Amino acid sequence: MKYALITGGSRGIGRAVCLALANDGFSVIINYRSNEGAAIEVKQEIEKNGGSAELLPFDVSDSKSVDAAIQQWQSSHPDDYISVLVNNAGIRDDAVMVFMQDEQWNKVLRTNLDSFFYVTRRLLKAMITNRHGRIVNVASLSGIKGLAGQTNYSAAKAGLIGSTKALAQEIGSRKITVNAVAPGFIATDMTQDLPEAELKKMIPAGRFGTAEEVADLVSFLVSDKAAYINGEVISINGGLYT
Ligand code: NAP
Repeated sequence: MKYALITGGSRGIGRAVCLALANDGFSVIINYRSNEGAAIEVKQEIEKNGGSAELLPFDVSDSKSVDAAIQQWQSSHPDDYISVLVNNAGIRDDAVMVFMQDEQWNKVLRTNLDSFFYVTRRLLKAMITNRHGRIVNVASLSGIKGLAGQTNYSAAKAGLIGSTKALAQEIGSRKITVNAVAPGFIATDMTQDLPEAELKKMIPAGRFGTAEEVADLVSFLVSDKAAYINGEVISINGGLYT
């Protein structure tokens, strides 16, 4: 059984990635922070389709919570390892910089960037030993071009892109790839409060993307077909200029 851990797998893009990777034959480990009901629904949908899934709640922004959950998984699966990691969990908390509070800055950096370090370092050793691994980081258009009102979120996602490129070079010789996807506007809970009618006028495709479209890209990047793609940032934004 090949195991794939998706952080923030209970809703939105992470949920779609869980369903896609289960469909690809992975045993899916669904991480979430608090929304247990939504995570259980994802598990049930995977099982209904004949796939395999388990829940692994932890707070990606808290290194102790990450360590405890991963240690618990590893001791209950002594003969297995997680070969695919999708660092997807994320939040936004927008404010123009003059009004941004310490907690808004810190919380967004911790959840979108520190989380990558906390989770990835704990899974790397087994990937290196097994000489196989796929890591996909969910970045954002905001981390490439910057977006007004998102200095915290743009910094976190740009940092994630830098770390993606560095780690890809660090472990590329071990048959492990590390790539990032950079979605534009995707219709999920995270973008519910945005003025979609206004924003979609800027998007050549004329619409927000779907979580399933992002999941299809992640599915390709973790497949054997993508073995020679490493350290890349792949935009998925309907043609929105980056
Ligand atoms: P979403 O619908 O709000 O879902 C967020 C997911 O992350 C939920 O499963 C949530 O778990 C989980 N999560 C949040 N904080 C967490 C924490 N501290 N520990 C563990 N899990 C946590 O968001 P989304 O739109 O699918 O976004 C997914 C990723 O795509 C994020 O990294 C986001 O920055 C990125 N992205 C999104 C868009 C977009 O337009 N939607 C565009 C570019 C990039 P609970 O259910 O337990 O709360």
